[in-house]
Amino acid sequence: MAHNEKPTALIMIFGATGDLAKRKLFPSLYQLFQKDRLDRFAVIGVARRSLTNEEFKDSVKKSIAPNGETDSSIEEFVSKFYYHSHDVTDSNSYSALNELAKELDSGYKLDGNRIFYLAMAPEFFGTIAEHLKSDGLTDVGGFKRLVIEKPFGHDLESAKVLNRQIRTAFSENEIYRIDHYLGKEMVQNIEVIRFANSIFEPLWNNRFISNIQVTSSETLGVEERGRYYEKSGALRDMVQNHMLQMVSLLAMEPPISLTTDEIRSEKVRVFRALRTIKGSEVNEYFVRGQYGSGTLNGKDVPAYNQEEMVNPESNTETFVAGKLMIDNFRWAGVPFYIRTGKRMETKSTKIVVQFKDIPMDLYNKQEGSVSPNLLVIHIQPDEGITLHLNAKKNGQTFGSTPVKLSYANKGIDGLNTPEAYEKLLYDCLRGDATNFTHWDEVALSWGFVDNISSVWENEKEESFPNYNSGTMGPRKAEELLEKDGFFWWPVENLDIQE
Ligand code: NAP
Repeated sequence: MAHNEKPTALIMIFGATGDLAKRKLFPSLYQLFQKDRLDRFAVIGVARRSLTNEEFKDSVKKSIAPNGETDSSIEEFVSKFYYHSHDVTDSNSYSALNELAKELDSGYKLDGNRIFYLAMAPEFFGTIAEHLKSDGLTDVGGFKRLVIEKPFGHDLESAKVLNRQIRTAFSENEIYRIDHYLGKEMVQNIEVIRFANSIFEPLWNNRFISNIQVTSSETLGVEERGRYYEKSGALRDMVQNHMLQMVSLLAMEPPISLTTDEIRSEKVRVFRALRTIKGSEVNEYFVRGQYGSGTLNGKDVPAYNQEEMVNPESNTETFVAGKLMIDNFRWAGVPFYIRTGKRMETKSTKIVVQFKDIPMDLYNKQEGSVSPNLLVIHIQPDEGITLHLNAKKNGQTFGSTPVKLSYANKGIDGLNTPEAYEKLLYDCLRGDATNFTHWDEVALSWGFVDNISSVWENEKEESFPNYNSGTMGPRKAEELLEKDGFFWWPVENLDIQE
């Protein structure tokens, strides 16, 4: 679909009374509606509880206008929402859902286009997909697309089972696996920075880059998600998807064109080149952590193993740091360090590309030697880019001093920067799957992560909890870089506006 063409579709949201639907999906659809990006559409919300259409419309209104604002645009938007109470495990209820879908399809002239958004627990994904097919909901004249939330399986085996189930009803190019990091402005910007600037691409290799550091830290703890998190941990929750996706965008070769297939196949090649880490190497390349109690923003917070629904003896990691090696011509010898965790000192997602030192530091006999050049990509909460250079110190000296060139996305776009979910929904409506993960990426990244989790799950980490809340993780995460002669660039000192 051309960029300026407006999509038409029936959107079915499974799990329409849940948190994701209310916090992200309804507001994102409303943004698209307000920006006049949508043509004809209608929405069916599906969940078990019994609600009238009116009650459902009210809940949509609350989510898009929390302070009770009302105007004709809100009214027009919510008039397109319908509710169908339905237990997705109940085979008898799908035909009634199909009747409603057909009615809306002809009433709103939706051209037989359908989007099925599964905003609910992953154990239902397979059943839903199978029913959509057996009960005729996927027999449509237009397009049919399945949007599915993470986690996509629990490991490679379960991901394969799930994939087989959904493939009975949808082909690979009809499946949109959400990784909401891929909807973030600055994650998408990685490709533009690399492939639209002649000053970076020639340097983007092991001759000029010494290491790359990707940090995604949260200050939140596990909150009320203890039951889920106990089975997941940071490795499955963050590394398998978001962290490895960012690494693949940083490391991929330039695609021959910007089509979905070309970009995805370059990303897949990165995953294929990722060095397998297994057995006794796991604890050499990876560090796990679990938060203890501590103080965050002046408030005392409990340890992970004291949180609700968490086993006091829990062996689950809330922090992971790792060293990834990409064994190809471009990256041989360049470590990609990743770290992610909960209850850390700051909430921040940043990429630091550290360039190699210049061959001869002419300035080291002056006042202070030069600092390495860094390219920092700020993903969230700040969005932007900073380039760290060295310049001459003012005055009667030949000494050098670090300077920064910064570009902050906020200042330019302000409130118009669309949220990740808004972009991803729009991409899906237009049939652009570039920013969704392909099965090959999912399979390869699970294969990589499974080798690590199989070691960690079979070895109880006696040092847990091993970092205090409000810090940047366990000491061992620092040592991981120190062994190689590097250190984590402190994210709190890398802010754009300084
Ligand atoms: P949630 O708040 O627990 O919502 C679950 C929804 O599923 C509710 O609408 C619930 O409604 C419905 N449901 C449960 N069992 C059902 C059944 N048998 N038949 C029909 N409907 C059923 O969950 P969530 O936080 O929105 O998360 C949904 C999915 O998105 C999960 O896979 C999660 O991992 C993923 N996700 C969420 C977020 C987020 O920010 N929340 C972020 C990333 C990924 P009833 O109880 O009325 O049936």
